[in-house]
Amino acid sequence: MKRRQFLGAIVGGVAAACLPSAELSAQGFEDARDVYAALRGRPDLRLAIGGGDIFVVFADGSSALDRSRVAAWIQRSAVAVSTYFGRFPVERVGLLVIAGEGDHVGPATAYGIESSAMRVHVGAAASDAKFMNDWVLVHEMVHLALPNVPRRSEWLLEGNATYVEPIARAQAGQITPQAVWRWAVEDMSKGQPGPDDQGLDHTHTWGRTYWGGAMFWLLAEIAIYEKSAGRYRLQDALRAINRASGGNTKFWEVEQVLAAGDASVRLDVMTTLYNEMKDRPVHVDLDHALQRLGISEVDGEIRFDDGAPLAALRRSITASPH
Ligand SMILES: [Zn+2]
Repeated sequence: MKRRQFLGAIVGGVAAACLPSAELSAQGFEDARDVYAALRGRPDLRLAIGGGDIFVVFADGSSALDRSRVAAWIQRSAVAVSTYFGRFPVERVGLLVIAGEGDHVGPATAYGIESSAMRVHVGAAASDAKFMNDWVLVHEMVHLALPNVPRRSEWLLEGNATYVEPIARAQAGQITPQAVWRWAVEDMSKGQPGPDDQGLDHTHTWGRTYWGGAMFWLLAEIAIYEKSAGRYRLQDALRAINRASGGNTKFWEVEQVLAAGDASVRLDVMTTLYNEMKDRPVHVDLDHALQRLGISEVDGEIRFDDGAPLAALRRSITASPH
């Protein structure tokens, strides 16, 4: 399945929706103010998951949706994100569900303007399989966890959601480790710098923003593990950033985000990586990294090598935290 053909956007205090579509315009709620206004109404549903409250509002005309199925999908997504972060990443979030024709699940957007909020579009004909295989809502919920950063560094947040989403689902037992690493084998090279690249902070292409950002976090994952001799993982740093910031209603400089993460694992690897990659095109030896993790694709199948130097890291990345 080709993934990430459309992606949700993040909207913070200064950022604006990055990927509006014709479909969205036709369905309304493209303006964040309309989303917040709708969420001020009485919630149709309250889900308490991982210590956080999700207040769900079904937008006008959502009567065609099977609400119990939608609720199960929201719950499943929230469980994945709570598993990864050790709790739901914000205390409360409003979620506006907008029904449409067709069988789509998504697109979706996360906002951190006055409070944490999300908007998601769902087709009334969406099948159970569509909901079960969905990654869009998990991606948006990962955005709730980190503070917003200056627009030039949007790759940091999109890369983080891209990197964490499949891992969170695997840790919750919702997808296999093979499915997680297939995404790295098949898609991550889209994040390599092209001929005119000027570093992650200055090259705002789709590939660099989502996959270039994801590569940054994979490199951070490996560096934290190696430099701490296996004591810490990126997950520890991301949990610390989430707790220190309180999530996506905050606005931090990138240096502040990475310093909080580095401090939690007693290293300076993320700050160092950022300084290397922000202003320069850094080609990542992805094949070598995957080889060290013991990941390969043979005849279309993802294979693992437990004798690889970083095999233990690979196993721990997708293992249930407890
Ligand atoms: Zn996103």
